[in-house]
Amino acid sequence: MAYSAPRGTVDILPEKSGKWIKLEQLLRTISANYNVKEMRTPIFEHAELFNRAVGDTTDVVSKEMYTFADKKGRMLSLRPEGTAGIARAYVENKMYGLPEKLQKVYYMGPMFRYERPQNGRQRQFHQYGVEMLGVESPYVDVECMLMAVTVVEALGIKNVTLHINSLGDDQSRDAYRQALKDHFAPVLDQLCSDCKARFDKNPLRILDCKVDAKNPAMQSAPKTIDYLSDHAKAHFDKVCSLLDDLEIDYVVDTNLVRGLDYYSHTVFEIISDDPKLGAGATVGGGGRYNGLVEELGGPATPGVGFAFGMERLLLALDDDQDDDEDGLDVYIMPLGSEAKDLAVQIIAMLRANGFTCDMDQCDRGLKGQFKSADRYHAHFSMIIGDEEVQKEVVNMKCNHSHTQDEVPLENIVAYIENHMSGGHEHE
Ligand SMILES: [Zn+2]
Ligand SMILES: [Zn+2]
Repeated sequence: MAYSAPRGTVDILPEKSGKWIKLEQLLRTISANYNVKEMRTPIFEHAELFNRAVGDTTDVVSKEMYTFADKKGRMLSLRPEGTAGIARAYVENKMYGLPEKLQKVYYMGPMFRYERPQNGRQRQFHQYGVEMLGVESPYVDVECMLMAVTVVEALGIKNVTLHINSLGDDQSRDAYRQALKDHFAPVLDQLCSDCKARFDKNPLRILDCKVDAKNPAMQSAPKTIDYLSDHAKAHFDKVCSLLDDLEIDYVVDTNLVRGLDYYSHTVFEIISDDPKLGAGATVGGGGRYNGLVEELGGPATPGVGFAFGMERLLLALDDDQDDDEDGLDVYIMPLGSEAKDLAVQIIAMLRANGFTCDMDQCDRGLKGQFKSADRYHAHFSMIIGDEEVQKEVVNMKCNHSHTQDEVPLENIVAYIENHMSGGHEHE
């Protein structure tokens, strides 16, 4: 029987993993730059966590979650997003009691949603996300947005716009929820059955219904921004003025509501027309979620965060990376069994000295071995034949400058170090 990877999953092969590592390193560097520390939470959690945190009327939870019973009958879910796990861990580990009131963390890793695999969407996909917990301030909102913009700029993504909106605080949301109900009540019989259920439970979710997207009542629906309380309005105005001062390009997009229940106040998305990503692509987004930690049994704790799909970020990373950067220092080419025995000694010694190296294990001739040295972008080819074994030397060929030297065994490390550091400017 032949096996294949489950639908919606992909293998990241060695030729592609270098690009992933490059992206991950870039994201770690930016995180350090903003003093944001990594946090790692389990890939599965109690299903109830996501019902509670993300909201059981959202598509993510009601339709797309991988939920299963373990051997003791506990209902568990593969995480469909990263914020709920972080918030759960924040409460469980009493991070609200830490001396630093503002906790800034990031996560990176696989997420799981049962979606139709199309347009590059995978059922196992990867997200990088940031959460800033503990302080309600428009300054923190803006730090968060700025960090998201930094990521996009560092990747060289072009034609980027920051879209922002405010959903307001509890008071604003109550007023808005009522306005939505008043608006949709007369046309409720035209809407799909999901929306009829949402109408009572959570009318805000009607706005992201894909089935009813074309219904005129959707276009004319009230806007959150018209129902903001004084407090919420002051918060949003300050966010806008800080963005103005920092000369960040943004547009207020009153249709932006984000598909998850936990947001309040500021929400944002980064939208790009970069041809590499496709027109109008949402690169990432996030927002403030002041109720979430309390909802999970912690003290009232404000938070703000964002997430990026890493597959999308990868599209922006150039393919023409400098291969020599990942190349081997030395590829050892033994000819004959005595040479191979010697090569094993040398490669162990070189690796112990920190050089990246490999050797032929297929007993090929010179030509085949040179091809490998080339494929691995080896700086040196080290040729060992019978003659070299007799003389206790190796033949070092630099594949950049095409110089060649006979080097006594005891001088190999010194020779490589000297070659790479001093007066050898072919790179
Ligand atoms: Zn609907
Ligand atoms: Zn060289």
